[in-house]
Amino acid sequence: MQDLMELTKENLLKLGIMNIVAYSRKSRQDKNPEETMIKHKQDLMDFLNPLGIKYKIKEEIGSSEDISSRIVLSEILEKSEEEKIDAICYVNQSRLSRSVGDINRLFKFFKANNVVCLDLDKRIIRTFSGQAVDDDAFMQSVLDEAYIRQAKKVLNQGRRRSAQNGNSLIARMYGYERNSETKKLHIVEDEAEVVRKMYQMCLEGVGTKKIANYINSKGYRSINGNEFTYKQVWSVLINEKYKGWNIWNKESWTKVDGKWTVKKNDVSKWIIVKDSHEAIIDSNTWDKVAEVLREKGKLSPKQRNNLTWASGLFTCAKCDRTLTIFKRKDSLYLRACQKQDLSTGQRVCNVSGGVITDFEVKLINDLKKYKVEIKNELKNMKPPKSRDFKTEIKKMQKDIESIESQMDTLMDLLEKGIYTPKMFSSRYKKHEESIKQLEEQLEKIKEEEIKQISPVGQMKNTIDQIDNVLDNIRNDDESKRNLLWKSIIDTIVWDKEGRNGEVNIEVIFK
Ligand SMILES: [Zn+2]
Repeated sequence: MQDLMELTKENLLKLGIMNIVAYSRKSRQDKNPEETMIKHKQDLMDFLNPLGIKYKIKEEIGSSEDISSRIVLSEILEKSEEEKIDAICYVNQSRLSRSVGDINRLFKFFKANNVVCLDLDKRIIRTFSGQAVDDDAFMQSVLDEAYIRQAKKVLNQGRRRSAQNGNSLIARMYGYERNSETKKLHIVEDEAEVVRKMYQMCLEGVGTKKIANYINSKGYRSINGNEFTYKQVWSVLINEKYKGWNIWNKESWTKVDGKWTVKKNDVSKWIIVKDSHEAIIDSNTWDKVAEVLREKGKLSPKQRNNLTWASGLFTCAKCDRTLTIFKRKDSLYLRACQKQDLSTGQRVCNVSGGVITDFEVKLINDLKKYKVEIKNELKNMKPPKSRDFKTEIKKMQKDIESIESQMDTLMDLLEKGIYTPKMFSSRYKKHEESIKQLEEQLEKIKEEEIKQISPVGQMKNTIDQIDNVLDNIRNDDESKRNLLWKSIIDTIVWDKEGRNGEVNIEVIFK
């Protein structure tokens, strides 16, 4: 439940309002947008000036209905989170949004951040002080006569949720084409082959420049008919779309020194939809390539030349530090643990280094034994019952869609006067509740699906990886061997106390 108060100076002072943001937005529905904006600004100023409270007017021009793409509003929401705003003032609610769901979300957000809403048209202050959330504000918005017609239009337009069901906004990208009916990305097979080749070459340790040269030499061209550059190859290798993912909200626009600039959003803000379309690259391969690129990015060209098969593989048994490797003549050495006491600069770990020149041969034998172990284990395992997640998810999405269409019908009935607001309200709430529950279940199933990679499948995967290492490890290129070892070994724990201590090594496979 929210509290409504009359919009007066006394009440604002009582609430301790010190900072007001007045928000105004040009809407597509305005007959004369510029005139409306000017009038609204005047209205806001007429009300705010006599109050003597600090305020700022923020206007949004030529923006869309979708609140997530409204830059000025997002800025206000950010400021609210930073507690720089006590109140948001608007001429009427439809300036915030005409979408019922968005208004609901906004009010919940304002409640969470102690921001009160000042509605000039209704002359009310909405506070969301502490009491149970009954979405009363939401229902009031829904029942607002003029509002319903607009809300219905928005509901009937393709919803954002449908975009989240995997519909693509991109019409064409290398390897994919959007089907105009299904709105989903479909594979362009001959281009997909080139994409697969790029990933494969990257895993083999070939750099992006050489990959581009190779692809071009085979006569392949980008969508625009040009030769591939190494940057394009790079952008193919880091694009999650190729593993069937769709990601929204990766970046947002912010104003820096008066200029709009793109800022990468924190991963927690991303909307990730896995399996949104057919994958060209399986996610295992995709992740490995990402790992390869990450490792490469960390190293300078000089460091890359100094890579040995053992680089980054060994850690200190006492303090978990990665131990460094150096070459002298034909021998390979592990440097003693360099952990220091930061205040004195003294070495504080007594784990010493040693020669590891011949260790790789032993490692290959260990790996062969490890493979036999896994194979034996695999023999004794029963395959688990497999669950058909895809069908479960599809069914649930269908259920949600059907409830949504029932909600649209409700809107119709209310508009035609067949339903009273009371009947409408109770039914609408029920539907909202069902959708909420379904969406929660859907999330759970998706999580389970991700977790449920069967142990059998996992082990087979491991065996494949071991085979890959064993098949390719006899190779003169140390950096390639290093990558191979890293694909299968998590770390090698090294323990040797003092110069003459006994060497203890534990290989930890991934
Ligand atoms: Zn150490």
